[in-house]
Amino acid sequence: MDKLYKHIETAVIHEGYDPKQYMGSLAAPIFQTSTFVFDHAEQGERRFSGEEEGYIYSRLGNPTVKILEDRIAMLERGEAGLAFGSGMAAVSAVLLALTKANDHIICSQGLYGCTFGLLRLMEEKYNITHDFSELRTEEQVEAIIRPETVCIYVETPINPTMKIVDLAMVVKVAKKYGIAVVVDNTFSSPYLQQPLVLDCDVVLHSATKYICGHGDVVAGLVVGSKEFINKVARTTQKDIGGIISPFDAWLLLRGLKTLPVRMDRHSENAEKLFDKLKKHPSVAQVFYPGDQDHPDYEIMKKQMRQGGGIISFEIKGTKKDAQKLLNALKLIKIAVSLGDAETLIQHPATMTHSSVPSKKREEMGITDQLIRLSVGLENWKDLWEDLNQALDSL
Ligand SMILES: *Cc1c(COP(=O)(O)O)cnc(C)c1O
Repeated sequence: MDKLYKHIETAVIHEGYDPKQYMGSLAAPIFQTSTFVFDHAEQGERRFSGEEEGYIYSRLGNPTVKILEDRIAMLERGEAGLAFGSGMAAVSAVLLALTKANDHIICSQGLYGCTFGLLRLMEEKYNITHDFSELRTEEQVEAIIRPETVCIYVETPINPTMKIVDLAMVVKVAKKYGIAVVVDNTFSSPYLQQPLVLDCDVVLHSATKYICGHGDVVAGLVVGSKEFINKVARTTQKDIGGIISPFDAWLLLRGLKTLPVRMDRHSENAEKLFDKLKKHPSVAQVFYPGDQDHPDYEIMKKQMRQGGGIISFEIKGTKKDAQKLLNALKLIKIAVSLGDAETLIQHPATMTHSSVPSKKREEMGITDQLIRLSVGLENWKDLWEDLNQALDSL
């Protein structure tokens, strides 16, 4: 790390950018260009052969995007980073880079809906099969490893049930078999959790969520070893082409500066609301990793700084009651996505996880009564007033 600073709160603001290299501009410039001009034909030849460093064409690299990639790499404590046009572009580039036909993937029980869709597509097209696992114990992980298993793909906290997977335990087993561990760190951000520090191999994000933080960009990020990132950059990113625009990269650089401040507030607000929700008579169960009674609380403390900003809860009643609750809210917005300044609420069974077959949904713990709340940055008392009146109306 740079000698000037040691802490993530400083790195989110300064890492990867030196105003001296950009005519003193305090904010990173936006290089809104598709291509880069070579001084002469021989330089073009050297750029393409890799003999000379430098930009060629924005799908292969762009200075604004590079600042973002360097910054996220450092924040996740990885060697290199890559930015994408969406979280799913990042997920698909990573999974396609790691696998070949007939390979096998193990994943956490409970995945982002479209990641599940991608796994089914990979199975249909390339016979790349997958198994879900609770990933609770070493024995449980070991039991489903096959000779063709190449990767364990983990979301933790799990969306939307908020269960926690013990990353150090999964890594311990995976290392024994030479299997890569990939973590979708979207729900935590590098401020709350750094999987690479626990020896995981690859971290990825839907940067649309906490990293952006303002609900105005769809983007993805990946961090890993130089070797792996180069491989993705030269294959599944370059040739499939899911790159980020320079302007969106700039918005993420701007959003990142306040990540630690925002995550602290998201977590504080969530703790207050979780406490209130738990006591409301219309609420059957609340799932929040910062809950001391959460079955995974000890694992959470071991690998996360705080519980984060997402709460899921089950209401007493039916799907209709869940929808009634959402409709009764006045301040809190009904929307998928998460990690924004605005508090957002959604019904996973009919929204984010509606494409998951209902039997699978049940196994994942996504009932018709389950509601996911992305706690924003507002004053928590205003949020509770709104939630409370909506719950009272049931
Ligand atoms: C939103 C999300 C994704 C997909 O990201 P997009 O930016 O919407 O493509 C992947 N994983 C998790 C956990 C998410 O919340």
